[in-house]
Amino acid sequence: MLTRKPRQHHDEKFFVPRGRLPERDAAAEYLDSVAAGLAKFYGFEKAATSVIDDAQPLAALAKAKLLEERMPVTWKMRTGEELALRVSGALAILRSYVNLKMNDLPHPLKFSFEGESFFLGGSFDRQNNGRIESVEERGLMMIGEETTIAEAEIIHVIWKTFADIGIPSRALQLSVNAIGCAQCRGHFRSSFLAYFRTRGQRLCRNCRRDLKRFPTRVLLCGEDKCRMLVHGAPQVLDFLCETCKKHLRGVLEFLDEAGVPYFLDSRLFREGSWFSQLVFEVVFRPELSTAAESVLLAEGGRVSHAGELIVGRRIDAVSGVIILDALERVCTEQHIRLDLRAVQKVFLAQLGDLAKRKSLGLMEMLRQGGIGVMESLGRDSMKSQLKVAERVQAEIALILGQKEALNNTVIVRDVSSGMQETVPQEKLVEFLKRRISN
Ligand SMILES: [Zn+2]
Ligand SMILES: [Zn+2]
Repeated sequence: MLTRKPRQHHDEKFFVPRGRLPERDAAAEYLDSVAAGLAKFYGFEKAATSVIDDAQPLAALAKAKLLEERMPVTWKMRTGEELALRVSGALAILRSYVNLKMNDLPHPLKFSFEGESFFLGGSFDRQNNGRIESVEERGLMMIGEETTIAEAEIIHVIWKTFADIGIPSRALQLSVNAIGCAQCRGHFRSSFLAYFRTRGQRLCRNCRRDLKRFPTRVLLCGEDKCRMLVHGAPQVLDFLCETCKKHLRGVLEFLDEAGVPYFLDSRLFREGSWFSQLVFEVVFRPELSTAAESVLLAEGGRVSHAGELIVGRRIDAVSGVIILDALERVCTEQHIRLDLRAVQKVFLAQLGDLAKRKSLGLMEMLRQGGIGVMESLGRDSMKSQLKVAERVQAEIALILGQKEALNNTVIVRDVSSGMQETVPQEKLVEFLKRRISN
């Protein structure tokens, strides 16, 4: 069970060396290990990027208004050189792409990354007065994949990470929106602005200001009068070019097929961020009975526009990140707990259709019992599943075959010794807890 103190205020956190917050480290390590295990499993290679980098490449992004949400922390050296703190892991990877001349490698390239990014609250942060903010992210990035596979796979891994951590999917909302490419974005924008030309004066003060630089932010305003006006505004979906339409359809079809519920949110634009063409967010919505607010747990989208500005030529890039700070907070507040030591120790393998169907129920039972379990339901042969079990360094493999599925039992196998015994399913949680604590 995880216990820890409330999160440090970010100002303190910025100056306190991480080694002095053991509780936090244990929690972060746990959440991180689930995400890392899945990323590795799906073939995303771990990439490390520097916290400090040349500030100059960010200038083009700032000029294109892609850094309004997060303004980079920069400073000048005595030599005149300007440096910046990492403002996003995804952008840092694009910088490495250039520096390490990765365009010679076979594409698509798949990376997973982790770490803190630093920024000044940007244009939209009305309370911030020049304080440095930091956010701890774990992200995925795919470079050189034009098709919807990129978004689909990244969303899939993020969604699965939340499931494996034990966050009930009914409390999660995945929102997706197509925001247009360089061709179709302009058409929507001018029609949107034309709509507000005669109505703009009726918007609230904040919206009137946003309308000039980031018009779609008006869609997010909570004021009644703004919401009424927004209701009749042009919708981006009516302005998408064939390519953008097809792309969105492809992503949604994949999500349907994978059984990932989504909400096509025509208000989601993230104007002022580095996302382009397609954006997505995963928000935690607490049960109605609690007063807690919704929390943004993950975000992502195409970063091709930012990529082009950094790399200097057309490039396909998609990134998605889990915001670890927010995830930890949700897990603490919602008392979502798993046995830290169990996370990567137990692997479920199944054989046959009945076993495959029953394994979902078994996994749910283990999760409710506080035991994290890895699986590879997509693979059919026992041999390849046990190979995966070895690769994720599982210590215990649970084997569910036709016979076990019928008898409501499961074979518990020690991966290193190969010793195994059959255990009734209703006693499994208790049995595993005993085994793991030894
Ligand atoms: Zn388009
Ligand atoms: Zn407003």
